[in-house]
Amino acid sequence: MEPITDLVHKYLRHDKKFPTVWCPGCGNGIILGSMMRAIDTLGWDKNNVVLVAGIGCAGRLPVYCDFNTLHTTHGRALTFATGIKLARPELNVVVVMGDGDSTAIGGNHFIHAARRNIDLTAIIFNNSVYGMTGGQYSPTSPYGAKATTAPYGNLEQSFNISRLAEAAGATFVARGTAYHAKMLDGLIGKALLKKGFSVVEVIVHCHTYYGRQNRFASPVEMLFWQKEKAVRIEKAREMSPEELGDRFPVGVLVDRDIPTYEEGYEKVRETAGEAIREIMEEEKSKEKAKSRIYEEL
Ligand code: SF4
Ligand code: MG
Repeated sequence: MEPITDLVHKYLRHDKKFPTVWCPGCGNGIILGSMMRAIDTLGWDKNNVVLVAGIGCAGRLPVYCDFNTLHTTHGRALTFATGIKLARPELNVVVVMGDGDSTAIGGNHFIHAARRNIDLTAIIFNNSVYGMTGGQYSPTSPYGAKATTAPYGNLEQSFNISRLAEAAGATFVARGTAYHAKMLDGLIGKALLKKGFSVVEVIVHCHTYYGRQNRFASPVEMLFWQKEKAVRIEKAREMSPEELGDRFPVGVLVDRDIPTYEEGYEKVRETAGEAIREIMEEEKSKEKAKSRIYEEL
């Protein structure tokens, strides 16, 4: 692993796009650091990495990175990423989304990308709020949490992103937190290596909106909340739902092998190509027969 200053020079557009739009103390930078370290550990050529994002605070991430990058429309990052992967399957395509981006406006794209098992890595920044647009509640805001659009408490039950991904068919699902940055490096690395639709849900803090509205005094307090609530999956599996309570498992939650969409697509291309060649041969011989008859007339 190279020293952090070398990683900054190697992977960030530090001389063009900095400073970031992120609030001082935001956890998004921790996830960016983990992602850089994971890619560096794998030794991937950055020219073969494509980073795609939608809109929101998390959606700004590709702007700062010196990979092939696409900053797309809200909720549609997975559709752009799918197109890139099918056109250029040799590229490593990573999709960065927020909780609103991936499970509200982009919710259908998310479940269908998982169902199709397209070989993409989705890193989801789950801060339980719409940060960039002013602190509205999102599909992952806990029941009763305060938001600018729920000053008396959120009345909706929240999505569990990792379980949603598992149920929709993702081959690899992991959950980490910004607090457990070292563990997050490994989870992102494993997700990048895994063939198929891989999801890393990262519990991260937005102190500016979620924290301020829900009585967290500082980003540090929110980081300690992540430390306190996270339970390693190995330990969580031995606990009853009552024992687990409002704590959540972290680590690799799902790791299974399912044929990817691209593998099937390649087979269809070969079979269809064969059928088309046969039809063309048949057409050619019909044409030849026609011209022979024409000449004999
Ligand atoms: Fe981070 Fe929240 Fe600020 Fe956005 S609004 S940069 S998520 S702290
Ligand atoms: Mg969010």
